[in-house]
Amino acid sequence: MDNNPLGIILLTLQDMPDKTRYIFVTGGVTSSLGKGIISASLAKLLQARGLTVTIQKLDPYINVDPGTMNPYEHGECYVTDDGAETDLDLGHYERFLNITTSQANNVTTGRIYKSVIDKEREGNYLGKTVQVVPHITDEIKHWVQLLGKTGKYEVVLSEIGGTVGDIESLPFLEAVRQLKWELGDHCLVIHLTLIPYLSATGELKTKPTQHSVKKLQELGIQPDILVCRCDRQVDSDIRRKIALFCNVSPEAVIQSVDADTIYDVPVLMKREGLDTVVLEKLKLKSPSEPDMDSWLTFLKKLKNPKLSVEIGIVGKYVELRDAYKSIAESVNHAGASNDCKVNIHWVHAEDIDGNNAGDILSGLNGLIVAPGFGHRGIEGKLLSVRYARENRLPFLGICLGMQCAVIEFARNVLGLKNADSTEMNPRTSFPVIDLMAEQKEISTKGGTMRLGSYECLIKKNSKTWEIFKLKTINERHRHRYEFNNHFTGEYERAGMICAGINPESGLVEIIELSDHPWFIGVQFHPEYKSTALKPHPLFVHFIKASLEARQPQVSRSASKVKTLTVR
Ligand code: GLN
Repeated sequence: MDNNPLGIILLTLQDMPDKTRYIFVTGGVTSSLGKGIISASLAKLLQARGLTVTIQKLDPYINVDPGTMNPYEHGECYVTDDGAETDLDLGHYERFLNITTSQANNVTTGRIYKSVIDKEREGNYLGKTVQVVPHITDEIKHWVQLLGKTGKYEVVLSEIGGTVGDIESLPFLEAVRQLKWELGDHCLVIHLTLIPYLSATGELKTKPTQHSVKKLQELGIQPDILVCRCDRQVDSDIRRKIALFCNVSPEAVIQSVDADTIYDVPVLMKREGLDTVVLEKLKLKSPSEPDMDSWLTFLKKLKNPKLSVEIGIVGKYVELRDAYKSIAESVNHAGASNDCKVNIHWVHAEDIDGNNAGDILSGLNGLIVAPGFGHRGIEGKLLSVRYARENRLPFLGICLGMQCAVIEFARNVLGLKNADSTEMNPRTSFPVIDLMAEQKEISTKGGTMRLGSYECLIKKNSKTWEIFKLKTINERHRHRYEFNNHFTGEYERAGMICAGINPESGLVEIIELSDHPWFIGVQFHPEYKSTALKPHPLFVHFIKASLEARQPQVSRSASKVKTLTVR
């Protein structure tokens, strides 16, 4: 514990009375009901009432964090300022709440067990048999209350991953049961369920909800509020029936009807009175009614676009939208800020070859090449970059996308044949992207990349300067490879400028083309910092440039938009 800052926080705060209210959000019937969005929406409403709120995700899997998981398994890995590799729900929390989350906001079974086993090896439990109850459950309770005990939050929401009935979530639910018993009316449980509509009989069915609530009750947890997902209105008879069979008050049966956009959900939940019921049950006085003005302004812009723009996103996981969640949301935020609808065309990098790049990409007004790891799809990404560069199409390369822009420029402008990243070709004669020096000794995979927020100095007189108008920015990272500074002179003489540099290491954070309307590559991930109310300047300006590029593009190739590979 000596060199563990969180441990120090605990030691100094453990005797402070914890006035924080704890809300747990569990899920029943099926996965993918949107617990993250419901949690973020409720937190938004409480925040809009003037309360200080944060959200935490408790994930029952055994990985210490999702950093080593394939996007096919887990969707996007979201990175926090403090370098935690986390669940994508943390992205929703930040995008809705405009707050930053941290390592303490995502806790997995793996982290809990690792911590307990480390303590056991240190001799902290000397003489005791270490067991799921109480040691694992105590550790879970410790992590749940860690944020509350900082004294910074009046409300901490903890979303429990998975579905009630899963074997792996049992210790988490036991911890919730104990906390509910210990904290009394400072704690409540919201259970999210599904009310399916059976078209054969034309009815909404409540039985799956009843069963999943029974499952929770078997574990000793009586939910206080039920949020019922459904594709149509749930009438008052059905609500009364659910209330009666599930032991909850009728006003605590809240419907959550499918929404046009996730950003509608806070407004819908306000209409259903979710925040009011929560405050009553927690005996919490709210200073005011929710002030949703800025949110409604954003929503109005999002839902009433004046223009539209066609943006391609090239990646190798495009069939799985969750892999690029934050990029898609950032583009939406930037669209709203430009009063325009962004039509995203997902382009599979492996579909692009030397013959079809023009056909696939020519209807676009702007192109993003996504982050990624490994060789698959690289040639398609390089061809896309080349297309954007040569056709003066606004281009934003993110992390691997930036590295592809550097490789493409080396091969096709600098004439460095077979230039490459050593990630793809360790024996290339022109390693224009190379493993970072501090990575060379590292052989383990979990949490060992360059992660989290680092400073970047922006060159005056660059195009990037025009966007940020700031000398220094801080952005989040997740990579092992970097621009090889050995080639900087050659690049800059040919027109690819290193516009952003990390002041400590000299690492190139931003490249841009001087002779192109809008061509920028960033080693960092701007998508992790774009929120609904604070869209990221890079995305805002990229969409603006794409709108400006629209006229000639549309007239040149409007007929080809339909031929896009949209998966
Ligand atoms: N694979 C590249 C690296 O490790 C890029 C990573 C990314 O796109 N996040 O540097």
